[in-house]
Amino acid sequence: MGINEIDLHASLKKYFGFSQFKGLQENVVKNIVQGKNTFVIMPTGGGKSLCYQLPALMQEGTAIVVSPLIALMKNQVDAIRDVSSDIGVAHVLNSSLTKTEIKQVKNDVSNGVTKLLYVAPESLTKEEYVDFLQGEKISFVAVDEAHCISEWGHDFRPEYRNLKSIVGRLGDNIPLIALTATATPKVQEDIIKNLGITDAKVFKASFNRPNLYYEVRPKTQNVDGDIIRFIKQNSGKSGIIYCLSRKRVEELAQVLQVNGVSAVPYHAGLDGKTRSKHQDMFLMEDVDVVVATIAFGMGIDKPDVRFVIHHDIPKSIESYYQETGRAGRDGGEGHCLAFYSYKDVEKLEKFMSGKPVAEQEIGNALLQEIVGYAETSMSRRKFILHYFGEEFDEINGEGADMDDNTRNPKEKQEAKDDVVK
Ligand code: ADP
Ligand code: MG
Repeated sequence: MGINEIDLHASLKKYFGFSQFKGLQENVVKNIVQGKNTFVIMPTGGGKSLCYQLPALMQEGTAIVVSPLIALMKNQVDAIRDVSSDIGVAHVLNSSLTKTEIKQVKNDVSNGVTKLLYVAPESLTKEEYVDFLQGEKISFVAVDEAHCISEWGHDFRPEYRNLKSIVGRLGDNIPLIALTATATPKVQEDIIKNLGITDAKVFKASFNRPNLYYEVRPKTQNVDGDIIRFIKQNSGKSGIIYCLSRKRVEELAQVLQVNGVSAVPYHAGLDGKTRSKHQDMFLMEDVDVVVATIAFGMGIDKPDVRFVIHHDIPKSIESYYQETGRAGRDGGEGHCLAFYSYKDVEKLEKFMSGKPVAEQEIGNALLQEIVGYAETSMSRRKFILHYFGEEFDEINGEGADMDDNTRNPKEKQEAKDDVVK
């Protein structure tokens, strides 16, 4: 292949305006342009899109990008069109297009103009599309948010399971690129098995967030008071408080307001207008705090969130990692405080008991892991990273002293209590 390092950097500059690759990007891109199966595991914000966009733009043919959300696809297509002189360079192919639009897309693909074709997995089950794509030159297929393949992931989508066989019908030896921010070994195994990419080169970035401080406190009757005290000690800073139920979100937001904290609620029960108003108020810093269910966060990119409080235990370490990951995006302080009581675990177990058995088993196993996190006396950072299959040196690793257990080891704490007595 005639693509060398100079070409790579020149193209990076030309298409994206960046002078440098981020993290593992360059090696990933090299692997993809060599036509090899590739598996990319990077935290959210790590820059996964560029890993397949750049090779797609540099190569002949059209890259098919499978993505679960139309909104995500549209964003990406708009961004690519911004940097290219030709609108046809990127398209979304889905059922909302008119006949004329579909014809245009097909023309652009056939003429070699389209470098990136975004599709939802269910679109790929349409015979009409498969028939069309069979006759075209496909550079590779990128499966974004690949964790959707796995029941152990947080967003299982059965349609993702059919991708392997569909791609098989599109042509021989079309390279597959899987990308995800889910670092758990179980999910990764599922992805590799399901896409049949045992030969894929795996690129895994570190999931360590050294600027985040992890703390767990026992949850008492007075958890609201504890939260208010924490916020007052951090006044003027932006923060998110996660609660399990909409009802609790509403109650807590009110309690905070009554106590002079500027806070708004956010959950899927609020109408769309109120939701986006509250989200904007938070982004524009008209309020300090948003009290939310997990409905809040997808695509929220506020760089200076200074704390993320969990009023209730999250349902898995992975969710906890994603939710706390919204703190300290700018590299500055990010305090992750979880309130823990075993009663909450029992509540979640009870809630799950109404679900199908297989789902229950997975749910309970994930829950036991987060219980382990809450109850551990070891470095919380080490615990989280170990869950993601990553070694962490709790003495010299980056952010080694950034958790309650490391700063105040349990034995020492007890010894101190004895002295006080
Ligand atoms: P992910 O999909 O891994 O969550 P994205 O692909 O959405 O991450 O990228 C996150 C951000 O990083 C985007 O704003 C993107 O423009 C930026 N980015 C990606 N690669 C680079 C780079 N090489 N230099 C600077 N910024 C980059
Ligand atoms: Mg992404």
